[in-house]
Amino acid sequence: MNWPQDNDMIPALARFHDHLSGILPPRALVTDPELIAPWLVDWRRRYHGHADLMIEPADTAQVQAVVRAAATYGVPLVPQGGNSSMVGGATPPADGSAAILSLRRMKRMRALDADAGLAVAEAGVILADLHDAALYVGRRFPLTLGARGSAPVGGLVSTNAGGTQVLRFGTMRGLVAGVEAVLPDGALHDGLSPLKKDNRGYDLNHLLIGAEGTLGVITAAALRLVPTVAARAVAWVALGTPDDALALLRRFQAASEAVESFELLPRESLAAVLAYLPDARAPVAADAPWHVLVEITDDDPAANPAALVERVLAAALHDALIRDATIAASEAQADAFWRIRESISDAERATGPAAQHDISVPVEAMPRFMVEAAAACDARFPGMRASGFGHLGDGNVHFHVRAARGADPAYWYGEQVPVVSAFVHDLVIAAGGSISAEHGIGQMKRGELARTSSPARMGALRAIKRALDPQLLFNPGKLVSVDPSDVR
Ligand SMILES: Cc1cc2nc3c(=O)[nH]c(=O)nc-3n(C[C@H](O)[C@H](O)[C@H](O)COP(=O)(O)OP(=O)(O)OC[C@H]3O[C@@H](n4cnc5c(N)ncnc54)[C@H](O)[C@@H]3O)c2cc1C
Repeated sequence: MNWPQDNDMIPALARFHDHLSGILPPRALVTDPELIAPWLVDWRRRYHGHADLMIEPADTAQVQAVVRAAATYGVPLVPQGGNSSMVGGATPPADGSAAILSLRRMKRMRALDADAGLAVAEAGVILADLHDAALYVGRRFPLTLGARGSAPVGGLVSTNAGGTQVLRFGTMRGLVAGVEAVLPDGALHDGLSPLKKDNRGYDLNHLLIGAEGTLGVITAAALRLVPTVAARAVAWVALGTPDDALALLRRFQAASEAVESFELLPRESLAAVLAYLPDARAPVAADAPWHVLVEITDDDPAANPAALVERVLAAALHDALIRDATIAASEAQADAFWRIRESISDAERATGPAAQHDISVPVEAMPRFMVEAAAACDARFPGMRASGFGHLGDGNVHFHVRAARGADPAYWYGEQVPVVSAFVHDLVIAAGGSISAEHGIGQMKRGELARTSSPARMGALRAIKRALDPQLLFNPGKLVSVDPSDVR
């Protein structure tokens, strides 16, 4: 199909489309605006882009053909997986100059080796399907997050996703044994071989992990699998301060190497979820200022993690480190605890607009940061309410500053959020932290990355971008601008 004559689309894009229609099957080229529309806005509905063409290749050879043609016609490409980015990372530019390169059709599991503990999955394999596939061969892929039903492998690798099991297994970076990717000139980087040792200089796999689609397209990844969970204990704990929470985490870690999750939330977050989920119940009776969800697992069916959790909690209660605690009596109750934790983002969203910050500081500094940063925000922005929740054991919390009651959303997002976020990010940097712990930079934090980073970091990022993508065609407007004066 030739580009419609009455379409005033950018000529390069029209020629690119005509070229692709000669070499790809029709199914790979989507021009119907209704089919493209859902992929033009980000999950938080903060960024709206435009694209007249969405390309859906079926295999790596087709991706290479697309990338080569894009280089020839000078067309920018926006790699996209499940579009669950929290930072507008996969939303195309609003001027319609780019095409979306969707990896969603590439959903083959190329290999599953239980003995080697490895899976090779194409970029479009959804995380929940990867979990099921691993379980099918008696193994587990130990990374999970709220978007597991929509986020696929390519996006998870490209954002170096974290989630709720990082404490024990690390981020995606630690679980990727190899990467296959098409580089901006169309060349194939075949790094899938799961080498334990490989010292051939710069590590291209690790350069591509977390690159947010700015250095090429990930088409497949070799992923590490671990033994399945034979037994787990999930407990809910009420306590007085984040300091107490960290002390409790250290006790658990001294007692077990299998602490998978240790999530901290304030009373306000629990209240927001209980108001949001009509059928949810507070796990403990005590009305404490802070709450912890802890999970310990074991791959030995004879193990009894609940007994260990009970022992640690009994001692903590005796020492007045905690105020109340309960251990889930069934899988259903454990799931109910987790449902509370995983509903916090949605529940808080329902309470009104907020400035969200996915930040990290050194683990030991986090309790103090949570208390002092919240107090500093409340003092600096009267009427707003700041609090953090999340992965205490990773030194990573989602630090939200909620708008004052009755705030106009347009004014809030347009004028106030940048000021609030700059204030929070300055506190984070002063504490030796990072303005993006797990969600990436995307378009939301690009200016803040440039503002808060050292010349050494920004110089190196820009040099890498220019070297691998000299035409600057990959995911324009995201992560890093090569122009030092551009800090939008
Ligand atoms: C409810 C919810 C909960 C979440 N919880 C967490 C969490 O706990 N931890 C966490 O880390 N994240 C979390 N996220 C964020 C998000 O799910 C992850 O960042 C996920 O990895 C993004 O995958 P995706 O394919 O949907 O990415 P997309 O939104 O499609 O893309 C994200 C970025 O990756 C690039 N990209 C996508 N696919 C490719 C590819 N094949 N090759 C090259 N670049 C590519 C895009 O260009 C973009 O820059 C959550 C999101 C939601 C909606």
